[in-house]
Amino acid sequence: MGNTKASNIVRSVLSIDLNAIAANYNLLKKKVAPASCSAVLKADAYGLGVDKVAPRLWQEGCRIFFVASIDEAIKLREKLPEAEITTLNGLLTEEIQYYYVHRILPTLNDLGQIDTWATFCRQHHPMPAAVHLDTGMSRLGLSPVEQDQLVENPAKLHDFEFRYLLSHLACADCPEHPMNERQRADFLDISSRLPTTTRSLAASSGIFLGIGWHFDMVRAGICLYGGKPNDALPNPLASVIKLDGIVLQIRDVDSPATVGYGATHQFTDKSRIATVAVGYADGYLRSASKQTKAYWGETALPLVGRVSMDLITFDATKAKGLKAGDTVQLIGPHYDINDLSADAGTIPYEILTSLGHRYRRQYFGIDK
Ligand SMILES: *Cc1c(COP(=O)(O)O)cnc(C)c1O
Repeated sequence: MGNTKASNIVRSVLSIDLNAIAANYNLLKKKVAPASCSAVLKADAYGLGVDKVAPRLWQEGCRIFFVASIDEAIKLREKLPEAEITTLNGLLTEEIQYYYVHRILPTLNDLGQIDTWATFCRQHHPMPAAVHLDTGMSRLGLSPVEQDQLVENPAKLHDFEFRYLLSHLACADCPEHPMNERQRADFLDISSRLPTTTRSLAASSGIFLGIGWHFDMVRAGICLYGGKPNDALPNPLASVIKLDGIVLQIRDVDSPATVGYGATHQFTDKSRIATVAVGYADGYLRSASKQTKAYWGETALPLVGRVSMDLITFDATKAKGLKAGDTVQLIGPHYDINDLSADAGTIPYEILTSLGHRYRRQYFGIDK
C-alpha cells in the first residue's frame, strides 16, 4: 500500500519566511526610532498566520499590536499573554466585557464610544484605550465636528487612560499627494489641543513619507509582510512568501485550439500548456486572467486563458523539460507579491489576505 500519511500528499506549497518578517520589523523599527513601531496583525496577520507571526514579532521585541476585531484580539491574547493589544474597529457595547476580561484596548471611534468606555471604567477602574480621529478617510474615527466637541470638553477623557491618539492616512502610498500634508497638519493641530498622549498617524506607507509623519508611534502592517511602501522608491523590504504550484499536466496544442472557460485565448502556433493546481479558490484571483506569470527557473511562463476554481494554465512553450509533478513559482524572488498584484490589477494586501487554505504551509525561522 505504501505510505498514506497526509504529509505525503502532493500539494502546492506556500512558504512563509518569519526571518524576513523579523528583518522587516527591525528595519522599520530602526527607521522610525525614537518613535516606536507597533505591528498590525489583523486578518490573521494578513493571511500569513497570526499564531506563527505574532510570537516571532514578540521575540524581536515588538510589544504593541493592533488587530481589527475583538475575536482577533482574543485569539492573539492566547498567543501573547503579555502583549498590549488594541482593536481598530471600535467599541461595541455588547463586547465590552471581553475587553475587560482579556485586557484588550478598544479604539474609540466616536463620542458615544468614549462615553461608554468612560462609564465602564468608572464602574471598574481606569483602563487604557485609543481615540481615533478621522482626518480624511471618512470611515472610522471622530468626525471633525466631534473632534471640536472633544477639544471643548476634554473631561470626557478623564475617566479612562487615554493611551493613544490615532488617525489614518488616505493617500500615503502617493508621496506627492496633498492629502498627506493636510492630514498631518490637522492631526498635529487637534493633538496639540487635547491632553498629551502617544500620537500615531502613519501605517506602512506613511513611514516612508518622512519623519514628520512618525509622531510617537507608527503602525506597520503590509511592509512587515513584504509589501512595498510606494512606487517611487525601490522596495527596501524583504520578500516574505513563496508560492510553488504543482504542474498537473502538460498539453501540446496548436491552432485553432483554445484554452479554458470562454475560450478567451486562441493558439496561433504550436504551444505547450502547463496546467497548475492553483485557482481562484486558492486566492489566485480570477481577475488576474490576463497578464500574470509563473517562473520555471529563470523562464517566465505567461498565464493564458481564464483562472478556474482549482486550475490555472500557463504557456510553457519555452519551458522545455517541464513535466507533470514539477513545480512552477507563482510568487517568489522573480515575481513577488508586488509584481503579481500589479499585473492582477490589485494590491499586495488583497493577494496576501486571499491566500487559500489548500496549500501546504511551510514556515521558516520558527526556532531562531
Ligand atoms: C490596516 C491598518 C494599518 C496598517 O496598514 P498598512 O498599510 O498595512 O501598514 C494601520 N492603521 C490602521 C487604522 C489600519 O486600519
